[in-house]
Amino acid sequence: MRAFRFESLVLPPEADAMRRKVRAFLENERAQRYAAHRSSWSTFDPEFSRRAAAAGFVGMTWPKQYGGGEHSNLERFVVTEEMLAAGAPSGAHWIADRQSGPQILKHGSERARGLILPRIAAGECYFGIGMSEPDSGSDLAAVRTKADRVEGGWLINGAKIWTSNAHRVHYLIVLARSEPPSENRHAGLSQFIVDTSSEGIEIRPIHNLSGGHEFNEVFFRNCFVPDDMMIGKPGEGWARVTGELAFERAGPDRFMSDIRLLVELINQIGAEPTERQAIEIGRLVSHFAALRRMSSSIAGLLERGESPATEAALVKDVGTAFERELPEIVRKLLPVEASLDDPDEYSQALAHVLLHAPSFTLRGGTPEILRGMIARGLGLR
Ligand SMILES: Cc1cc2nc3c(=O)[nH]c(=O)nc-3n(C[C@H](O)[C@H](O)[C@H](O)COP(=O)(O)OP(=O)(O)OC[C@H]3O[C@@H](n4cnc5c(N)ncnc54)[C@H](O)[C@@H]3O)c2cc1C
Repeated sequence: MRAFRFESLVLPPEADAMRRKVRAFLENERAQRYAAHRSSWSTFDPEFSRRAAAAGFVGMTWPKQYGGGEHSNLERFVVTEEMLAAGAPSGAHWIADRQSGPQILKHGSERARGLILPRIAAGECYFGIGMSEPDSGSDLAAVRTKADRVEGGWLINGAKIWTSNAHRVHYLIVLARSEPPSENRHAGLSQFIVDTSSEGIEIRPIHNLSGGHEFNEVFFRNCFVPDDMMIGKPGEGWARVTGELAFERAGPDRFMSDIRLLVELINQIGAEPTERQAIEIGRLVSHFAALRRMSSSIAGLLERGESPATEAALVKDVGTAFERELPEIVRKLLPVEASLDDPDEYSQALAHVLLHAPSFTLRGGTPEILRGMIARGLGLR
């Protein structure tokens, strides 16, 4: 049986310097422009993204030639942590910075890189994920959206579902079947960069539990995508999509989505908690510290060029279980009426998290699927 690799990581001095820089930026932003307890990495605010990019916090690791900052993964890691800790409304650029941009940098055509990456790094170009389909959520290899070859490119036909922010982003990376289905379900898939303003795309809203509009259904009817907007080569889609999911699962966004609720709880309770409050807060904070250490260790492995997919799946599974548990414990420690309209910040934060928490373990892959991957990675399956 293989073991997990979670070595402790000592951050280099440039990462500490970057932490000071991003904290100063975020303190200024928070003081003037947003309510930390009501926002997170799923809050879409293009103005914030433009300012964060102008300060050098988007596309940080990419080559300068594409608008990047040529920083290390570890410097990017501390910026990610600080954005989450501050409850920064970073949702507009989050997907493009976290996974679509790196995917294009590694596997996109030269034209796609030149056209798209500098705009992402400027905080002006946003992406959505076109993986899930009706009847093929966790079972991605069952994707039925088709891509047929035509002169100069491909025609896409089919439907995607749960596509976050499709109505506000500039591009979707769409997984489609570019060859007829065969016995090998993972063969014949390809990834395409699809411009959401193209002809032949219809985007319909699906409202979520809090009444908000983030999800969509997206329909493609003879939607043309030029050859150089394919990612990688025809038929490489399965390798590409699993590589992209590794970016999606490894980071601290998988255990810090609702961290501001814990901060608000501690602020409300103050310096003299009851014994029960002290025990539960101590337990939550130590659990959080262990997750943080696991996640920073993954950042260290990525910096060394390794692909810790099994460890990333574990952090995603344990991390999102923590995110789901947090509001349940918190509301028992300090029960108040949770309401988005209450002037009290704790009540607002609790309401916000309660409405969003059910989705935390689903998005990016369900626990059952992740545990299957972990078992396979450890040689148990
Ligand atoms: C907030 C949010 C944002 C999202 N954003 C996007 C997005 O932008 N783009 C996108 O493409 N998708 C997005 N999704 C979709 C998400 O990734 C899927 O919901 C998820 O992969 C699960 O698929 P499903 O909902 O179809 O459930 P299903 O796959 O139908 O699963 C239902 C249940 O069956 C279990 N199950 C399924 N297969 C197995 C198996 N083989 N073994 C054991 N158990 C199994 C699952 O774990 C789950 O509990 C988002 C979801 C959420 C909640």
